[in-house]
Amino acid sequence: MLLSAYAELDLAAVPHNLARIRAVAPNAKIMAVIKANAYGHGLIRIAKALSGVDAFAVARLGEGITLREAGIRQRIAVLQGFIDREELELHIRFGLEPVIHSPFHVEIVEGLSSAEFLSVWLKLDTGMHRLGVLPEEFTSCYARLQRCPAVRQPIPMMTHLANADALQDLITAKQLDCFKSALHNIRTECSIANSAGFLAWDAARVEWIRPGIALYGVSPFSDRTGLDEGLQPVMTFRSRLISIKNLKAGDAVGYGGDWICPRPTRLGIASVGYGDGYPRHARSGTPVLVRGQRVCLVGRVSMDMISLDLTDCPDVRVGDEVTLWGKGLPIEEIARHASTIPYALLCGITPRVKMVER
Ligand code: PLP
Repeated sequence: MLLSAYAELDLAAVPHNLARIRAVAPNAKIMAVIKANAYGHGLIRIAKALSGVDAFAVARLGEGITLREAGIRQRIAVLQGFIDREELELHIRFGLEPVIHSPFHVEIVEGLSSAEFLSVWLKLDTGMHRLGVLPEEFTSCYARLQRCPAVRQPIPMMTHLANADALQDLITAKQLDCFKSALHNIRTECSIANSAGFLAWDAARVEWIRPGIALYGVSPFSDRTGLDEGLQPVMTFRSRLISIKNLKAGDAVGYGGDWICPRPTRLGIASVGYGDGYPRHARSGTPVLVRGQRVCLVGRVSMDMISLDLTDCPDVRVGDEVTLWGKGLPIEEIARHASTIPYALLCGITPRVKMVER
């Protein structure tokens, strides 16, 4: 029996989610975003579970090399690209596709000889103002890359949406217009949409889509759950009760003693805390499942423990399983209680949490 915190991974949910994504954008090729250790789920295991996708995207060169060394053969885009010639050569050596996101990159690529062979993506900054060549730089960057003998043609294009999950925000329509007008006389494959982008915006479903969070069964929208989108959670974060005691009304619980028992209280302690990636800022009232029943977190989250009000659950016992998020308890709900986002919760799972594949 696993006593401490563990993450149960339902790998069958991955192809389910992929099928759901394909149903939303049936004509699009899929570049699965598996950066940051596949959003905390394990880079190689998720890459293998996604064997049917057309390409992967990672943030950093090291992640791409790790995939290649594990025998992953699909195309791999490196979203942050390279910072010098040496890193560019590693992209070539490992068959990785850097995202060219500034004229600085174009200059380095221009230094390659015709004996070298490189596939790149060119990223346009359509308004997010993070990475990407600005619209006024685009024509010249594109033309210069077209003249590079080492670069495979035609060069695919991408952009990234700043606020696709906010359906009322005019920025997405503006970004889509900007992308369209920059590309008006160029024939190449394009990629615009993250999960919110392809779920909510028809015009963003172009040749390629780049799902991240949806692959893991989680909604990109703060007011919806993965289940609402027809997705299934891949990760269920669990632990167990390690203590139960009866306290009097007025007793203070945990660091700072800032939760006071409002009534005689049956207090449970579960073996999970911010040292495992449970959010330090989860507030009293955050739901937790114990034997399938919803109970409330009370008091402050400690490094290795959380406190639960079990007063209404007379049957639960030390050793009982506790679900922190996942099946039966949407991670989106926990994120709201902790004033964070599901992405940060998933990526925040720490190495001491055992990953258990189901
Ligand atoms: N594309 C880019 C450039 C990204 O940075 C990300 C994630 O941050 C994604 C796609 C996937 O986004 P999501 O996880 O919201 O689907």
